[in-house]
Amino acid sequence: MNQLIDISKREDIISKYQDSPIGLLLEYHNLEKPKDEYSEAKLLVGMCMDSRKYLNIPDNFSYIIRSAGANLKYNEFQISYAISVGGIQHIALIGHNDCGMVNLNSRKDQFIKGLIDNAGWDSNAAEDYFTQFAPQFEIENAIDFILSETKRLRLKYPKVCIAPMHYNVGNNQIYLIVED
Ligand SMILES: [Zn+2]
Repeated sequence: MNQLIDISKREDIISKYQDSPIGLLLEYHNLEKPKDEYSEAKLLVGMCMDSRKYLNIPDNFSYIIRSAGANLKYNEFQISYAISVGGIQHIALIGHNDCGMVNLNSRKDQFIKGLIDNAGWDSNAAEDYFTQFAPQFEIENAIDFILSETKRLRLKYPKVCIAPMHYNVGNNQIYLIVED
């Protein structure tokens, strides 16, 4: 079953997101809607730090938190700030294909060697560090992870509309993820 909704025209955006900042994000990015002017942010985007991703959106339209794997567990103060002080009522959580946090364990040796060679760490410290923190960031499946993050954040912020999305680094399009 295809878990992704291709957004190639406005009608593809499911109705509950149309005319909201979630729908506007998809219109600006995928459909090249002309950019409106914003004096304050309407949206919070949570997305991976991966350098291949770029959002085609107007200035001032969105707060953006970038974190490995779009894992926002360690950024909740920033989320709370955007909601409380920034007045944000909509969050787009965007995972992506070919994410380095998927199967992170396969990069263990590279990670440790890189900390030694590039950062000047000693090998024991680098290994201990990976062992301690990798389980907090490893993702099994990028789409399933975004769905679970969406559920978790909806419980924490029940009045906020949160949409799970997927960025394809091959064609730079954003898809809505189908929910049960
Ligand atoms: Zn990633």
